This record gives sequence, structure tokens and C-alpha cells, in this order.
Amino acid sequence: MNDVPKLFGSLVFNESVMKDRLPTATYKAYKAAVLAGTPLNLEIANIIANAMKDWALEHGCTHFTHWFQPMTGITAEKHESFISPTAEGRVIMDFSGKELIQGEPDASSFPSGGLRATFEARGYTAWDPTSYAFIKDNCLCIPTAFCSYTGEVLDKKTPLLRSMNAASKAACKLLKLFGIDTIRVNSTVGPEQEYFLVDKKMWEKRKDLVYTGRTLFGAKSPRGQELDDHYFGIIKQRVLSFMKDLDDELWKLGVLAKTEHNEVAPAQHELAPIFTTTNVASDHNQLMMEFMKRVALRHGLVCLLHEKPFDGVNGSGKHNNWSLSTEEGLNLLDPGKEPYKNLRFLTFLAAIIKAVDEYQDLLRVSVASAGNDHRLGANEAPPAIVSMFLGTELTAVLEAIAADKVYNGNPESYIKVSDDTIPALVKDNTDRNRTSPFAFTGNKFEFRMLGSMFSIAGPNIVLNTIVAEELDEFADKLADAPDLEAAVYDLVKETYKAHKRIVFNGNGYTDEWVEEAAKRGLLNLKSTPEALPYLGHAKNIELFEKHNIFTKAEVESRVEILLENYSTTISIEAATMLDMFHKDILPAVTAYTEDLTKAVLDKKAAGVSAGFEGALADKLSKLGGEMYASSLKLEDGLKEAAEIGDSEKQALYYHDTVLEEMGKLRSAVDAAEALTGGKYLDYPTYGELLFGV
Ligand code: ADP
Ligand code: MG
Repeated sequence: MNDVPKLFGSLVFNESVMKDRLPTATYKAYKAAVLAGTPLNLEIANIIANAMKDWALEHGCTHFTHWFQPMTGITAEKHESFISPTAEGRVIMDFSGKELIQGEPDASSFPSGGLRATFEARGYTAWDPTSYAFIKDNCLCIPTAFCSYTGEVLDKKTPLLRSMNAASKAACKLLKLFGIDTIRVNSTVGPEQEYFLVDKKMWEKRKDLVYTGRTLFGAKSPRGQELDDHYFGIIKQRVLSFMKDLDDELWKLGVLAKTEHNEVAPAQHELAPIFTTTNVASDHNQLMMEFMKRVALRHGLVCLLHEKPFDGVNGSGKHNNWSLSTEEGLNLLDPGKEPYKNLRFLTFLAAIIKAVDEYQDLLRVSVASAGNDHRLGANEAPPAIVSMFLGTELTAVLEAIAADKVYNGNPESYIKVSDDTIPALVKDNTDRNRTSPFAFTGNKFEFRMLGSMFSIAGPNIVLNTIVAEELDEFADKLADAPDLEAAVYDLVKETYKAHKRIVFNGNGYTDEWVEEAAKRGLLNLKSTPEALPYLGHAKNIELFEKHNIFTKAEVESRVEILLENYSTTISIEAATMLDMFHKDILPAVTAYTEDLTKAVLDKKAAGVSAGFEGALADKLSKLGGEMYASSLKLEDGLKEAAEIGDSEKQALYYHDTVLEEMGKLRSAVDAAEALTGGKYLDYPTYGELLFGV
């Protein structure tokens, strides 16, 4: 279909469908409940459920599901049909308000980190009316939050909604002081999603890709990303038709897919949507990832969302563009043109600087995973050190305030505001420094440390909550100021002076920065097992409890789940390596070595002078010995790791010992693979995978 406006949202039970199909009073009650964040009463829910069902049936649906996001980071659904038996032995299609509002999936198989005793397997899902219902596979999907029967949070949506409320409350309170009366401030997000596409037939032959999502072996291909010709390059036909299909599917679901282009590495691409409220952006990003995988299959491709599918070429991340805006659409991170608004901007800016500095550990934890460990700090992605880029102009403005001076930079690029006390502000600040983990990009911040596989919920829960904390504190501090302008000026000055260590505008990929950051006392949490325990630190639990995001038990359960998840990931990778080593690699290398040795003997028997075969067989035999020794150590390491009871110690052991040995095994295997004849290898090489689409 070429009529995109007609296509867009055609599978979504959105505002316009509701307006058309609901009685006015019901629609108004729904809107009021959404704005106030209050539950719908059953009577209203019954009317909405019925309208939803009729609409879904007209679109060919037979089932509905409560669509939720357990702590696995992906979405879960249990399909139930609309059928309801009648006394005459027939069925009618029925859907009640109760079924819309609340569901009861068996929760026993979802991770709870010890929150839910096994005898109490029940959990329930509750409709999130701020995210529209939609149709997928002839099934009406109702976005829901997921809790245990006793009320503990078991998902990513509940805390995200709570963090949005916390940020809204604090921002509204602060805005009042600036004369802005709004009922709601939304955090907005536009996540740029990177991914790889590989040929499905080749993918099937790689156990590492199938089981772990990344290659565990593979000699470098003769050509990688050195020529820089892929980035924004011409998109291949097969990929183009995939992208077109993907756009269509996403548009039907109301996802604002906007730009599609090639990324830095061969076979790597990016899709960016237009930003929306965080909650919807998070649901949409889940749909985006799901449909990338599905649509790829239709084109004989497989979409890899892993952060590091290939060694030696760029990995994939997700840039989380984030801002705050009022219900009326005023972007609070837009420097603006009027003096009054600039004061307000400076206040919000200072609060964010303080938040990022004081909670750098939480931001780091929110992007920690086994996959992302391959990127952060590996000269292709931001370092593991959290810092902020403000740009030279904005930094100069703050420096001037800190020194009680009026900024006197290039007047061309500044908007002069007020008289002497308030410095001129930057008119346009576009950041092209791609090395910063947290960059101001004109009218939003871009948090660039997220891995491509991540649910964006986690990082945004942290971002919203830490900013809520500082905005709330600022609002209290400024509340009784007799002279608001002077008080803001002082607050910005003191805050900047106390937290400017977090501001860094230089190249984040250099060793000098690592040294400098250490001098500034910034954290450098290099790996996931090192980072995760910070989540449970007292100051962080206090923060989450204060803003009603997580209880102490919920935080602790999350640390537990994340540590276990890390250990499980590495153990699966190590087991896959050993499997491939014994089943594919060793036989290939041995067969080739044997043929070479035979050639040596044959030549000798025929009286032909010795050639290269002996030397090559010798090299391969040595590498074979190394590989085998390494595989034994890896086996021992895995056994040892499984015995460790403490989850923190276990994760550290997996990182320090198992992962380390995996690296050694890999380098010996890769060296042998590079020397082994192609026909001996049963699986496609890097060159074939990266350039085979
Ligand atoms: P760049 O190309 O510099 O990364 P773009 O203007 O293309 O920046 O935007 C990148 C992403 O940021 C897009 O998804 C866009 O919708 C999003 N974005 C823009 N403004 C905002 C905002 N106020 N809040 C959240 N995201 C935003
Ligand atoms: Mg970007």
C-alpha cells in the first residue's frame, strides 16, 4: 500500500478509533483517567472492552493477550480466545472489562530474583491505558504492567511509569516557580536502533550465532570496515526491500519509523523513530526489535540485535535521545529565546548535571550486560566512564557563571538575554562529538551507552528518577527565594562548581581521558559484574524508595537477576564454544593437517623434494595443541564456576576466568582457521557473513 497516512496506525486502537467508537462520556472518562493516572471503573472498562472487541473482530482477530515486559527484557504474551459458550452449545465472541483491566498469567517461569516464593506462582497483569492496544498476528494485544500477587513489581513497565510520574511531579513543582502551570511533564525518548543483517542460510550453519547471537570464533575477513564506504552508503536491494517491509509493518502499528540507513560496519544498519513519550517509545522499541527479526526472515535474512556479533568490526548500540516536555508540548531542554525561559533552562540543565554526576553509577549499571561489555570502552562506543558533553559554548556559559562573570564569547552565536546578571545563551548547539556517553544535542540529551539488545525501560527508569530527585530538591531550595533570578543564578553556580567534574567535551576514546577521569574521581566500572553491585548501594535504594520506584527487596532481586543473567550468558557461550570446537573446528583442522602430512609422505615416497606441507602441518599441529589445552582449561573453569554459590562471586569468576580463557581459545582457533583450507570448514567465515547479503 502506498497510502502511508491510511496505513499508519491502522492496527492500533488509538485516539481516533476511540473517539469514533466510544460514547463521548466514556471517551472523556478514559482520557481523564489517563491524565490523572487513576484506574478505570469497571463500568467504563466494560464499554471500552466491548468496543475494542468489535474493532478487533472486524480486523480478523480471534484472540487477545495481555502484552507485558517481564524482567527478561523481552515481551511476553499468552493468547486467549474471545470465545464464550452459550447454553445452546454454541459460542459467542466476548470480552469483558475485567478481562481488559486485569489478567493472570502463570508467572512461575519468569525471573523474580527470589521475590516470589514458588508456591505463590501467580502474578497479574494490569492494563496500561497510556499505551494503545494493537493487533499482531490476529491477536488483540493489550499493553500491561506485571506484578506479583502480593504487589511486587515483576516487570519493566511499572517502574518506568512510576519514574515518569516522579519526574513529572518534580518538574511541575519546579515549573510553578517559573510561572508555568501544567498538569503533566512527559519524558520523551527517540531511540536510534542499530542492527546487523546476515543471510539466513549462512546463519543456520553457525551454532554460535544460533545459540548466543554472536560469533565466538572467526578469523578476520581480508576486508572489514576500513574503507568507511558502508556508512550512509547505497543500500543494497535486498536490504532495501527488507526496510520497506519493516517500515510498513511498523507504521501499521503506529510506530513512527523515520530514518533507515547503513551504519559503520558492513551488514550493519540503523533505524530511528520520531520521539514520543518514554512509555510508548519503550513499547514501540520492543515492537521494532520484534519486527526487525520477523521481517528479516521473510527476506531470507536474520537480524542480529546482539551488541557485538563480530569481533574486529563495530558493534551495535542504541542512542537514547531524551528530553522533558510539558503536556502542552514545551520542550524544557530547549534553550529558548526569552530571558525567563533561559533561566528555567539553566535550572533544568544544572539539575541534570548534578543528577548525572551523583548517580553515574546507576547510569552505568543501567547499561551493563555481557553483550555490552564488548563495546563500552572498546574504542567504538563511549567508554565505561560516564561523563557529559555540553559543547564549548554551553560550558563557557556555565564557566562564566561559576566565575561571576558575564559571558563575552562570539556574539554572533549567542542570544543576549537580560542585562548583566544572566549570561547570553547558545543559539544553536549541535554536537558532532560522537565519543561522549551523555551528550547535549541542541534541545535534548543523548544517552549513548545503551546496548542494541536492551529494553530502553531500564536506562530511562534511572534517568527519570535521578532527574526527579534533583528537580525536586531544586524546587524546595528555590521555593521561598525572595528574588528568584538571583537564587537561580546562585543555585546554578554552586551546582556547576560542585559537579563540573562530570563535564567533559574532549575525545572520550583516548587513554588520556581514562587517566584524567580517574584524577577527577569518576567511576570507571569496566565490566558488568563490577558494575551491578552498585545498584544495591544504600544511596541508590534510598533514591528508589523515596520516589516509590522500587522497594529495597525489588532492587535486590534485580541485582540478583542481572548477575545470574550475566553468568548464564557466559556459561552458554563457553559451552557453545566447546561444542563447536569439538564438533566443527578440531575435525576440520585435523583433517587438513592429516592431508598435509599425507602429502609430505607421498612426496617423500615419490622422491619429490619437501615443500610447504610439512611447515604448514607443523604450524597447525602446534596451534591444535594450544587449542586443545585451552579447551581443557575452559572445561575446568566451567565446572568450577558452576560450584560457586554466591552470585556476585560467580559472575566475577565467569568474567575473570571463564571469559579470559574463552579469549585464549578463540585466538588459537582463529589463527588456525585462517590457515585452514576452505573446504574443510563446515561453517561460513567472517567474509562470507559480512559481505554475503
Ligand atoms: P541526530 O541525527 O543528531 O542524532 P536527530 O535530530 O536525527 O539527531 O534525532 C535523533 C533522535 O532524537 C530522533 O529519534 C528524534 O526523534 C529524537 N529527538 C528529537 N527531539 C527529541 C526530544 N525533544 N526528545 C526526545 N527525543 C528527541
Ligand atoms: Mg544520534
